[in-house]
Amino acid sequence: MTQPTPQSDPDLTHQTPSVTRRSALSSVAKTGLALSIAGSLIGCSSSAQKRVQSKGGSLGDPIPEDPIVHSSTPSPIQTRPSTTHSVSSNDSLSAIPSFVIPRAKWTSSGPKRWLADPMTGINRITVHHDAIMPVPSGTYADSLRRLQLIRKGHLNNGWADIGYHFAIDPSGRVWQARPLELQGAHVKDNNPSNLGIVVFGNYEQIRPTSASLRSLDQLLSYGMQRFGVPISRVYTHRELRPTACPGQNLQAQMNATRSSNGRLSTIIRSTSPVLLA
Ligand SMILES: [Zn+2]
Repeated sequence: MTQPTPQSDPDLTHQTPSVTRRSALSSVAKTGLALSIAGSLIGCSSSAQKRVQSKGGSLGDPIPEDPIVHSSTPSPIQTRPSTTHSVSSNDSLSAIPSFVIPRAKWTSSGPKRWLADPMTGINRITVHHDAIMPVPSGTYADSLRRLQLIRKGHLNNGWADIGYHFAIDPSGRVWQARPLELQGAHVKDNNPSNLGIVVFGNYEQIRPTSASLRSLDQLLSYGMQRFGVPISRVYTHRELRPTACPGQNLQAQMNATRSSNGRLSTIIRSTSPVLLA
């Protein structure tokens, strides 16, 4: 077994203690999964996961199997007023926008809710890569399998569920991952009120597809407007913790889209300019 490449998150060294990287990898190996899952195991650690002892290729713009329609610019999404607010009821977090593929499409299993804290409000967003190579082909089926792979790795960490709230594949599909009612497990010591988004692939090694970047901006603008998150609180993982995540190439794209003339800023300027503050 070779060691996974070091591009993935050094946050591993701060991993929650009951499952070490070695034991996690060993567990994975026993299940016959490829070592490539290592990226998901070490990708983004959690600090807020409750533990209950008794309970426990080549990249391009692939042609998807199912139709995906993208306009050249993500459509502005009008939702709630642009003010930061607490969510008083978890019911209000259960809805997902129409461009997101529901969780039920890739798993029939629910989160282990007793291992997670409730999300009591969202006031920041963090972008990740999964650090797993090869990147999925771009087909619906491959992305479905990637989600299941990451979730399995995160469950092996002793977590409640897949750590991120949304995932984006190379074809630009946006998948619902951990329900928003639950706090994520994606940035150590920074999970409260933090919406987590992962883009499949290792962006230390490859560049993100244009389709995935369009969808990322669409999802970010949606989250910003729905929860009143200012652009100054849209982060990448490495901006909150010492880690390579989301990789230099996705980091560069995030820097660009958040800049004053970047695509995300342009969308927000036309819809909720107060969020540019
Ligand atoms: Zn990360």
